Amino acid sequence: MPTYRHFLDGHPSNLPTGKVVCVGRNYVDHVRELNNEIPDSPVLFLKPSTSLVNIHEPLHIPVHFGECHFETEMSLLIGKKLSNCSLEDAETGIIGIGLSLDLTLRDLQTKLKRSGLPWEKAKAFDGSCPTSNFVSRPLCGDLNHQQIVLYQNNCLMQNDNSSNMLMPAAELVKYITSFFTLLPGDIVLTGTPAGVGPLKFGDTLRVSLSKLISCKTVIQQAQEDNN
Ligand code: ZN
Repeated sequence: MPTYRHFLDGHPSNLPTGKVVCVGRNYVDHVRELNNEIPDSPVLFLKPSTSLVNIHEPLHIPVHFGECHFETEMSLLIGKKLSNCSLEDAETGIIGIGLSLDLTLRDLQTKLKRSGLPWEKAKAFDGSCPTSNFVSRPLCGDLNHQQIVLYQNNCLMQNDNSSNMLMPAAELVKYITSFFTLLPGDIVLTGTPAGVGPLKFGDTLRVSLSKLISCKTVIQQAQEDNN
């Protein structure tokens, strides 16, 4: 697997590749499509740094664990240490925004959820967090008005605005840091809009974030390890 590193405004960043903190159920329409309850407080989970791959390269998804769904999410690049932080610190701690796919082995996740077990095998596997280049804050405009779009083979599947998030970006970061210290180089995924669905080998995906980011990628079968 090629080594991932963060890019900011088109240049490799000096920030380390950290952990990924994700939120489930942050858009009402997506909560409904999976027949989940709207949570009283955000549902958080983690992906390790080994989940990160470059979305601009072909994506390799697992073969043996049932359906692998795309979830297109705005991601936040963290630039400073944040622990039990204020909203103001959360605001200034987000130094860039990008797009990530929260790849999810949905069949496996459903099985784990039914048994009351943690989701990591379904959510945190190698390559489960393809991520784009980041755009730095001064160039981003309002984090709470970003359009998130995914086309699968020219079909529009996801199209929603970050203004519809149950918990907006900076508040989410503040909330996360009451549990997990965020370090420079960590990223936060802000939840998926409705329209998630299974990936197939050979699919072409086009994803965009407002007019800031636009990229195309293809889905390939995970390479079996012959070493
Ligand atoms: Zn997600």
